[in-house]
Amino acid sequence: MKCGTCSGSCPSGRVVAFRTRALVEARATGTIDYDDPSLWYCTTCYTCMERCPRSIDITDEILHIREEAYRLGKVLEPHKAVLTYIWKTGHAVPINDAVREKRVRLGLSEEPPTTHRHADALAVVRALMEEEGVTNE
Ligand code: SF4
Repeated sequence: MKCGTCSGSCPSGRVVAFRTRALVEARATGTIDYDDPSLWYCTTCYTCMERCPRSIDITDEILHIREEAYRLGKVLEPHKAVLTYIWKTGHAVPINDAVREKRVRLGLSEEPPTTHRHADALAVVRALMEEEGVTNE
């Protein structure tokens, strides 16, 4: 159909060289370029998917393409760093001292009830990552 609703709706496409429609077409024709860094420019906001008149699961497909890229060892460094944070802490954005202080000021526990407080949960996160072939390498 190539209506372009996905590209026209994409907030990332407004600021970086990322064209959702081109990626959808590359998927359909089997011509994905896994070396193209723009694969990683999607913010996974799901706007394209919500607006697609053909109900194509665009965002989910982008995530599948990224999984394939990861398995080929083609991940941008910032995304690798996020995986390392998740591996080490269970969070993509781990807590820091400033947030700890704010939590205490608000009457909350210093550490949130997540992997920060439960080391056993971090082991589960790592097991899930390993099951998906993600390691801390
Ligand atoms: S999910 Fe990704 S591709 Fe779709 S509109 Fe949002 S940023 Fe663009």
